Amino acid sequence: MTAHISAAFDSGNIRVLSQDGDRFDLEIITDQRSDFYQWFHFRLTGAAGRTVELRITNAAGSAYPDGWPDYRARWSADREDWRLAETSFADGILTIRHACDVDSLWFAYFAPYSMERHHDLVASVAMLPGVGYRSLGQTLDGQDIDYLTVGEGKLQVWLYARQHPGESMAEWWIEGAIGRLTDPFDPVARVLRREATFHIVPNMNPDGSRRGHLRTNAVGVNLNREWHEPTAERSPEVLAVRNRMDETGVDFAIDVHGDEAIPYVFLAGFEGIPSLTERQAALFNRFRDTLARRSPDFQSKHGYAVVGSGGANLSMSTNQLAERFGAVSMTLEMPFKDNDDLPDPEFGWSAERSMRLGEDCLGALHEMIGDFAA
Ligand code: ZN
Repeated sequence: MTAHISAAFDSGNIRVLSQDGDRFDLEIITDQRSDFYQWFHFRLTGAAGRTVELRITNAAGSAYPDGWPDYRARWSADREDWRLAETSFADGILTIRHACDVDSLWFAYFAPYSMERHHDLVASVAMLPGVGYRSLGQTLDGQDIDYLTVGEGKLQVWLYARQHPGESMAEWWIEGAIGRLTDPFDPVARVLRREATFHIVPNMNPDGSRRGHLRTNAVGVNLNREWHEPTAERSPEVLAVRNRMDETGVDFAIDVHGDEAIPYVFLAGFEGIPSLTERQAALFNRFRDTLARRSPDFQSKHGYAVVGSGGANLSMSTNQLAERFGAVSMTLEMPFKDNDDLPDPEFGWSAERSMRLGEDCLGALHEMIGDFAA
């Protein structure tokens, strides 16, 4: 049988440049109307019993070339378990070598979270007692911006993910957090639902997700640079969510992401905003330290450089929410590589670990929820 590669499906991304038997030269396609690319997701058929060589020839020009050294692609036969593939990066080319034992295999930058899975998640949660559902509006491709609410407490908590659609771990995190939050028997969840109202946007960028983008929406806009002045033409996703936030207020918020280069889980805060208060900074630090104590997958040593006083970029959601609402807001970053403090040679950083981290973040919030009233 002749091996074949395709990417014509939800969140697919690859172009086949040439094929020589079981060796493919491939190229990642840029986001629509943008230069960003790094996300790939494709299917390989017809190679059982043979070893294929899959060469992504434009890896060096991707958005984050530092993401490739020590990175390993994910592969799956059943689209449930995504294991690390033999991957190397040299001379600007990312090469995946794989001994195929079946005729249908899938390869991706990280365990995908398709829009079909997104709809399954929203449908399964929206029907639960005590959960509210609303579409906040439509994207430029006409998809709904799904929004869920849980709980009836005073503290207004916002959890939102996938402004950058290629960071699929972010929606796995949301799935873990929602699973815990809607568990009728979990005592932590019961307290959280009593003390707080959770506003959840599982996917801020459905268009980029379905199109197989790394970082932007249908018109090539990076949504996490739009929060100071979102528009219906460029960034209706941000406009709809920020308008709803203006109605509810925001006390605590987590914006969930993945980082290509840094092999750790970490938080970025809002230190550079003009109106920074001691209380805000103290609560942020307390959440970070509480999470670090609770989860061995989280740490606070490695991460982005802290921005100096007044230097915050208010087009980014974490800074905008901290400035606009006085919120304790944060950007949570999970790795595409692995957490080097606790590596897993079979799976690396994974969907499952992202989900556990979502559960643990709620545990940390529970532990300090009384501090917000003080
Ligand atoms: Zn991101």
